[in-house]
Amino acid sequence: MTIASRLNELRNALPEGVRLVAVSKFHAISAIREACDAGQRLFGENRVQELVPKYENLPQDIEWHFVGHLQVNKVKYIAPFIAMVQSVDSLKLLEELNCQAGKCSRRIRILLQIHIAREEHKFGFSFDEAEELVKTGLQERFPNLILSGLMGMATFTDDSDEIRREFASLSAFFTHLKTHYFTGNADFKELSTGMSDDYLLAIEAGSTMIRVGTKLFGARNASTKQALLL
Ligand SMILES: *Cc1c(COP(=O)(O)O)cnc(C)c1O
Repeated sequence: MTIASRLNELRNALPEGVRLVAVSKFHAISAIREACDAGQRLFGENRVQELVPKYENLPQDIEWHFVGHLQVNKVKYIAPFIAMVQSVDSLKLLEELNCQAGKCSRRIRILLQIHIAREEHKFGFSFDEAEELVKTGLQERFPNLILSGLMGMATFTDDSDEIRREFASLSAFFTHLKTHYFTGNADFKELSTGMSDDYLLAIEAGSTMIRVGTKLFGARNASTKQALLL
């Protein structure tokens, strides 16, 4: 199957109000171009050194989202063009994003990444930490950022009940924040959950943005890493 046909199949199955972020990390520019030619304009990457040359070599109307752990010292390289950083996981990162967005005279959309998985190594704020940030005026403190919602990754497991529980808990927390702190704020609207293996469960639980890589572009293996820029 071609990238275009997988893309169309995925898009046709999406309910209204759910957008597809095509996660193109480790895949070649030619693969992204194929998806572009099939009408996809929203892409996700998780490494700065890979994203910058892709941004420079691909159509300028692509909307790039950053979806991985972002090192504070690399923010400056993507601040001029990144549409959204979905993986904001620390106060330091908020501060640097706000500072670099200001230098570019831009406002950058962000999602707070929430740790919902059982795995320790995954990044993100706890519910309490995120609520504390919102409660203490995150939007006023960081005027160059637009808080647009939450992002989360479920545990990597075959246990779909566990995944359902994790997505449901994040969805409930999203609704809680929205109704307590964001009534009348149209920006706080995105719940980014769901990847290749669990996006259907995520949609059931209210996802507005699914982030799909493997199901669209195939496996990320050593040869795709080498062929990155071909
Ligand atoms: C890689 C990645 C994805 C896509 O994962 P697939 O399983 O390949 O669909 C989604 N979200 C994040 C944060 C990622 O790092």
